[in-house]
Amino acid sequence: MSWKDLYEDFDELSQGEKLALFEAIKNTLFPEPRLKLDKVAEEVRDSRFSSGLACVHCGSTLVKRNGKYRSRQRYLCRDCGKSFNDTTASPISGTRYPDKWLKFVECMLNGLTLSKTAKLLGIHVSTAFYWRHKVLYALRSLGQDTLNGIVESDETFFLESYKGRKHITFRKPRKRGGVAQKRGISKEQVCVVVAIDRDGDIVAQNAGRGRITATEIDVVLGTHLAPGSLLCTDSARNYIAFAKMKGLHHEIINVRKGVYVRKGIYHVQHVNSYHKRLKKWMERFQGVATKYLDNYLFWFRYLERYKNLSPFEAKRAILRDMSKRANDVTVEYLRVV
Ligand SMILES: [Zn+2]
Repeated sequence: MSWKDLYEDFDELSQGEKLALFEAIKNTLFPEPRLKLDKVAEEVRDSRFSSGLACVHCGSTLVKRNGKYRSRQRYLCRDCGKSFNDTTASPISGTRYPDKWLKFVECMLNGLTLSKTAKLLGIHVSTAFYWRHKVLYALRSLGQDTLNGIVESDETFFLESYKGRKHITFRKPRKRGGVAQKRGISKEQVCVVVAIDRDGDIVAQNAGRGRITATEIDVVLGTHLAPGSLLCTDSARNYIAFAKMKGLHHEIINVRKGVYVRKGIYHVQHVNSYHKRLKKWMERFQGVATKYLDNYLFWFRYLERYKNLSPFEAKRAILRDMSKRANDVTVEYLRVV
C-alpha cells in the first residue's frame, strides 16, 4: 500500500478526526523527549542562582560545593553551616515521587480538578490539594509583573466563598459556587483588579470587597506600573481618581457610550477578553475559597504565559518557575492561612 492510497480516504474524515490523525502522526514521527526531574534540577540551578550562588537558608554568598548526593550537587554554607541542593525548599525537593510530580504538573497545566488529578495519579485528594497549593504559593512568591507602556485595566467580580470552612454561622452555606443574595455589586463579591500591557505582562489580584476605591486599586497596581505608563480604562470613577492620584496619563474609553477604540490604539479589549477567559477557566472549580483566590489568579496568569509553548516546554517552564525561589510551604502553613 502506498501513502497515496491512505491519503485518498483522508477527505472522508471529519475536521476533528483529521486533526487527531495529524497529531498522532506528528507524535509518532517526532516524539516528545522524556522529561527527567534531574535534568530540571540542573535548569533550576541556572535560574535560581542567576545572580550568583547564595545560601537558600541565610542568603550568604560564602558557599562551597560539597560533593554529590544521589547524583545531585550539594552545597554547604560557611556562615550558617546548613547544606542545600539545587531544589531545596521548592515543591519538588526531596520528593519520593518524581514521576508523579511530572504527571501532577501536567494535570495543573491542563487545569484538571483535584478529584480528577488524585484519581489519575493514585494519590489522596488532600495530597493533591497540598501539592497544588505548594506549587501555587511558589509561583506567587515570584511576584507580579511590572507593566510598561499602554496598560489596560479593569475590575471583575467573584462571589465571596468560605469553601472548606466547616461552620458558616452568619449565612446559609451555598452549594457549589451558588449565587449572591443581593443583585448587583455588593460586599458579597470580591473585586479582582486585572491590568495587562501590550507585551502581555499581567497583574491580577484580589483588591477588596464590593465597589473598590482608588486607594484599593493603588495597593494592587501602584508599585507595578513602570514610570511613564499610560493607563487605559473605562469611565469608572475609581480609576479616574487613581490616575489623578498617581499623575498618570489616562485614556478613558467610554464603552457605555458605544466608544470601543480611541485613536486606533486605546481600548480595553485585551483586559476584557482576559476576564472572559479567566471566568470560563474558573468555572470548573465551582467556587474557589476567597483566601486562595490570589493563588488561582497566579495559576491562570502562568497558564496564559505557557499557552504558546509545546506541552513539553510548558512542563519544563512550570517546573523551573516553581522552583526558582526557595520557599518552605508546609502542610501546617496551609492550614493556618
Ligand atoms: Zn547560610
